[in-house]
Amino acid sequence: MFDSITGKLNDAFSSINRGRLNEANIREGMKQVRQALLEADVNYDVARDFMKRVTEQAVGDKVLKSLRPSEQIVGIVYQELVLLLGGDPRESEFSPRPTSAELGVKRDGLTVIMMCGLQGSGKTTTCGKLARALKQEKLETVLVAADLQRPAAIEQLKTLGGQLDVEVYAEDPASSSPVQVCRNGVKHARKSGAQVVILDTAGRLHVDDDLMRELRQIDNKCAPDSAIYVADAMTGQDAVNSAIAFNDALELDGVILTKTDGDTRGGAALSIRAVTGVPLKFIGTGETLDGLEAFHPTRMAQRILGGGDMGTLLEKAQREFDGEELEDAQRKMAEGKFDLNDFRKQMGMIGKLGSMRSIMKMIPGMGQMADLDPNVDMEKELRHVGGIIDAMTPDERRNPDQIDRSRRNRIARGAGSDPADVNKLLKDFKGMAGAMQGISQKGSMRDRMKAVQ
Ligand code: GDP
Repeated sequence: MFDSITGKLNDAFSSINRGRLNEANIREGMKQVRQALLEADVNYDVARDFMKRVTEQAVGDKVLKSLRPSEQIVGIVYQELVLLLGGDPRESEFSPRPTSAELGVKRDGLTVIMMCGLQGSGKTTTCGKLARALKQEKLETVLVAADLQRPAAIEQLKTLGGQLDVEVYAEDPASSSPVQVCRNGVKHARKSGAQVVILDTAGRLHVDDDLMRELRQIDNKCAPDSAIYVADAMTGQDAVNSAIAFNDALELDGVILTKTDGDTRGGAALSIRAVTGVPLKFIGTGETLDGLEAFHPTRMAQRILGGGDMGTLLEKAQREFDGEELEDAQRKMAEGKFDLNDFRKQMGMIGKLGSMRSIMKMIPGMGQMADLDPNVDMEKELRHVGGIIDAMTPDERRNPDQIDRSRRNRIARGAGSDPADVNKLLKDFKGMAGAMQGISQKGSMRDRMKAVQ
């Protein structure tokens, strides 16, 4: 989501990094940071206030007289990014997936969640994603098809409900109204003993009075515990502006930003909290029902700064696969004992985790590589690497250092590949294992944070 801003911020930091630091070149670097924010379509006022806070701290004596001023500056930008995204820079405990707690689901009785947003924002799909997440927590959920505006929405919700085995409450649109469907839907959910009811309300192509009136009526009649606004990240500042209108009408409790997988700028994600004051709860990361992630400001800020997001990757893996095996891999990484046998095992899992490109973006140092050449077929590369590792003996995988010229040639022949490719793999692996060890020991970012405090 933050591809371009990450590159630009890295440029700004490397220009700050060159030569001796003084107030003038820090200010110059800060100009580049500001430019990066604006090019990412961050709201103008938000960017201005952000830069004011960062610059004040960055040109202070504390930075200039410190041992590593450029690291301090990254630390300041990081802290301010976390605050901008609505987080606490000290937060280190992350919930692994979208949770009912984030949605404000109560422990007793029925929780009513009202979803709203413009047509095409991904509201109906997101209702399905939430129902899936709640089902994973074993919460009985009812979906209410109250989007009578878009004729296909009712059927779409019914299909999603069918896939998830979650009940969908619907009425004949010819003889009902959105308010009536919602009211009856909540009644029905209460009677059936459900714990959560999600109202998929109508959208419009634009914010208009009719829509707002309708939403306010539903709000009055159904008294939702949570009003969630669904916005399409790809619409940038338009998403932020309509969030203001919805918040004025409804007092939103949270925002879910969809299609972050297709958004290369990240302007809505960076501005929506600061402009509306409403927390960003989850992000949509794909069309399928598992494409929903918890939003963590600290983690997102690390991703923006190109620090990678190993944590999300590992958590994602933990959710889908055997926890023990992964813990084992994590422990080995931290101890520097992660060998090619482990790597090969992980590769099989990685293939199932999502596209190679999106995974690489989360690995520190590899993000840029994923952007390099869109024509490179990552999955093919992965198979190629897998073939080379398979041609090694288990002992060679454990101790790749012992692979000499003749062994290398044998492996290349076995894998139908070139000795130079074997060499490259061994070199890359060495670099990667070192980087992973650093990350697993939770180094860099935290050290930078400490340097600032
Ligand atoms: P609604 O009119 O707001 O109910 O929108 P829909 O739920 O029908 O979604 C509109 C389109 O956006 C559909 O094609 C969805 O598959 C797609 N969509 C929704 N969320 C995401 C997401 O997080 N990523 C991607 N890539 N597509 C999404």
